Amino acid sequence: MKSRRDFLLKIGGSALTLPLVSALTPAQAAVLPETSPVADKQLRVVLVGLGSYAERVATAMKDCKIAKLVGGVTGTPEKVGKWSDKFGLDKANFYDYKDFEKIKDNPNIDAVYITLPNSMHHEYTLRAAKMGKHVICEKPMSVSVKQAQEMIAACKKANVKLYIGYRLHFEPYTRELIRMRESGELGKIMHVNTYDGFKSGNPNQWRLKKALAGGGALMDVGIYCINGARYATGEEPIWVSAEEAKTDPIKFKEVDETVTWQMGFPSGVIASCSTTYNFNNFERLYVIGEKGFVELGPAFGYGPMKGRTHKGEMSWDTTKMHQTWQMDGMADCILNGKPEPNISGEEGLKDMKVIEAIYKSIAAGGKKVPV
Ligand code: NAD
Repeated sequence: MKSRRDFLLKIGGSALTLPLVSALTPAQAAVLPETSPVADKQLRVVLVGLGSYAERVATAMKDCKIAKLVGGVTGTPEKVGKWSDKFGLDKANFYDYKDFEKIKDNPNIDAVYITLPNSMHHEYTLRAAKMGKHVICEKPMSVSVKQAQEMIAACKKANVKLYIGYRLHFEPYTRELIRMRESGELGKIMHVNTYDGFKSGNPNQWRLKKALAGGGALMDVGIYCINGARYATGEEPIWVSAEEAKTDPIKFKEVDETVTWQMGFPSGVIASCSTTYNFNNFERLYVIGEKGFVELGPAFGYGPMKGRTHKGEMSWDTTKMHQTWQMDGMADCILNGKPEPNISGEEGLKDMKVIEAIYKSIAAGGKKVPV
């Protein structure tokens, strides 16, 4: 309970100086992802692919209470010394990609967290499941619906968890949006408007190569809008229509640059969404109901998050890294059976189905495509 108490004290203090912050109601307090006190057991995790996101996760995990980073998998031997020094890790828990299966015999590793380029998620999830280790896999979970289905089946067969790195489901602003929608405070949801993107740099990076990335902006960051429209409405889309704007056909020869799409839901609500790899300052999730609204912006990046509702400015803890909330939260689900937010492989698959439908619609000149 310590983290929740600390947080409540912090919010109580800020409420004195921030006039728009209202006191936390018990329902709001319930939004906070609660982590148990340091457990007798911790979820011991190795990161697979020690690139820039892995480094962020490792940094965030220094503050975790029940998830613990214990090692890594890398093809670059120099990273072993660097990482073990920087994060205080035992060199015995580091592996090369070709030694990956040796993790099976290491009793000090419970889970692998795959932070490799997108097209490698499928292979490493299947290999990890075979070893009987839990899998946390970065988004997008795969580069096709078929791969996603195989990953879910493999983890089910091995009786291990498959979670997708949907960190926002443990993040207070997002959780509050979901809570407000679920509690009926927003009334009937009428519309969602969401966008996310950035200007991609290095033209030689794997993100611009179809074989490694699977797709462009849509797969990488548009997925936040898809997931966001789903948690903002609480519904699953039944159709999409989409178009791509390509203003730089040389840089974005292999992958999509800027995509605009609509997602239609069974209630009749339509979410209007866009994503890009070619400009900055583009990040929002706006959900409007008959009784109120929530607008988050920034809504998807590492924060600090900001938001407002029909009641005023939102003010939640922005001091903790998202990945600290996420990793303790995931460990709590695995070790203590806490209810899982929408982070399962099946949730990742739902997003992959929408992504495939969007690409189909683009190829069909913007026609409506069923999801
Ligand atoms: P990165 O390029 O910084 O790291 C990729 C790592 O994979 C590197 O260590 C690289 O050496 C290794 N690798 C192994 N084989 C490779 C190959 N054939 N080609 C290229 N690299 C290879 O990328 P990143 O930004 O860390 O992204 C990794 C994954 O994390 C992606 O799936 C991405 O979508 C995801 N990600 C998620 C978030 C989030 O907020 N959840 C943020 C950033 C990235």
